[in-house]
Amino acid sequence: MKNIFLSILSLCSLSVLGQSDNITTQLYDTYENYKESSIGKRRIKRTDIQPLIDKLSANSKFKVSTVGKSIGGKDLSLISIGTGETNVFLWSQMHGDEPTATQAIFDILNFFDSADFEKEKEAILANLTVHFLPMLNPDGAELYQRRNLLGIDINRDALRLQSPESQTLKRVRDSLNADFGFNLHDQSTYYNAERTEKPATISYLAPAYNYEKDINETRGNAMKIIVFMNDILQKYAPGQVGRYNDDFEPRAFGDNIQKWGTSTILIESGGFAEDVEKQEIRKLNYTSILSAIYTIAQKSYEAIGIEEYEKIPQNDRKLFDLKIVNASYELMGNTYSIDLGIHQVEVDYPDHNSFWYSSRILDQGDLSTYYGYETLDATGYTIKQAKVYPKNLTNFDEVKALNFKDVLKKGYGYVRVSSIPLKNINSPFPVHILSPKFIIPILNLAPGINPTFFLEKAGIIEYAVINGFLVDLKKQDIHVPNGMIFR
Ligand SMILES: [Zn+2]
Repeated sequence: MKNIFLSILSLCSLSVLGQSDNITTQLYDTYENYKESSIGKRRIKRTDIQPLIDKLSANSKFKVSTVGKSIGGKDLSLISIGTGETNVFLWSQMHGDEPTATQAIFDILNFFDSADFEKEKEAILANLTVHFLPMLNPDGAELYQRRNLLGIDINRDALRLQSPESQTLKRVRDSLNADFGFNLHDQSTYYNAERTEKPATISYLAPAYNYEKDINETRGNAMKIIVFMNDILQKYAPGQVGRYNDDFEPRAFGDNIQKWGTSTILIESGGFAEDVEKQEIRKLNYTSILSAIYTIAQKSYEAIGIEEYEKIPQNDRKLFDLKIVNASYELMGNTYSIDLGIHQVEVDYPDHNSFWYSSRILDQGDLSTYYGYETLDATGYTIKQAKVYPKNLTNFDEVKALNFKDVLKKGYGYVRVSSIPLKNINSPFPVHILSPKFIIPILNLAPGINPTFFLEKAGIIEYAVINGFLVDLKKQDIHVPNGMIFR
């Protein structure tokens, strides 16, 4: 009996989702027409979105108001559109280094400003008033850091409200008494959908409003919207959706906003293979959030069964950027088989506009329960220490003239240079640069070290790992974003 009941419910959900399927496909396919091209990388600042906000202020379709200021004195702006009774409130980037949804918000605003999708937009704007508060933590964005200038996590300040950013979020939520809230974040790219190699490209949570994790109508509606959005993402990123643990966090905004009566949907943008600047994920945000807004306007989410929510796989954190499996490693006269898990760690340049890599071995040993964005089966390969190029070079011009593929094939991962430009923080070459006095330690694989070594089979070096990036020396082109400088 229970089974029949469930299958009727899921049929119900399917037909609801089917109705919106068409519009979703169109939104995805026409995305480039609305993408806000002035903000195309993750390190965006308040000054980057100011011209966009100015443009919206001068546009009668939108109502723009300054609703607060950050500790550093930067404006917090609320942009509203629509005349409907149901209020939908979206806020992004309360953590300064989580910008993906901020970009998607400006894409969505471009969509609303366009003359296309007239029928759908009419349905949305007659039934809903949609409010956007992009970049809630502009001081954190300036420094590309999670916390605000007080050094606190705004998402643990929902009760004490010490930060002006937190006070603004609470005040706006209360003044709108929003029916739906979208709490927009980024998560680590190392999250995966539990027990799969798939990254959690998007993770969801309908936050609990009490320790008992009860489900009332407010939270249930958030779950329904999540089921709806998950179904959309399965089409464009199959298996790449995770569900956050719903333990109650009394200090967090999502949990409290749910408690205050706004159906709250937490969206976390994670990782996607070969999408360093998360622009594909931004597109998935755009498509799924806009579709969700449409389904809220149509009230078609109401028929969705919340039991589907529990079926979304849990988030896990089992990904490496590079996983090397079964390499042979010689230590004190014996040979061992070892897996290596490598993170390609981003380090900001002082202006926080761009970054370089300083990679690390994160773990080693039996990593068979982990996954990699890139995995190399190194069975039969022996790990070899990278050597220093035999000739000392004078300057970067001489380094530039090297044939790097040849250099790497001979097992040289380091080049000694007598005059290293002071302005260079990292090596612009696919090899590391050493100052005249720097001595390379004997390779001793351990978590925390910079992963630089070669993989040799039958006396031939076939792969280099330079600063955590795998270089296949059998291929024509080699690429390493940057080496390191050891002064
Ligand atoms: Zn966050």
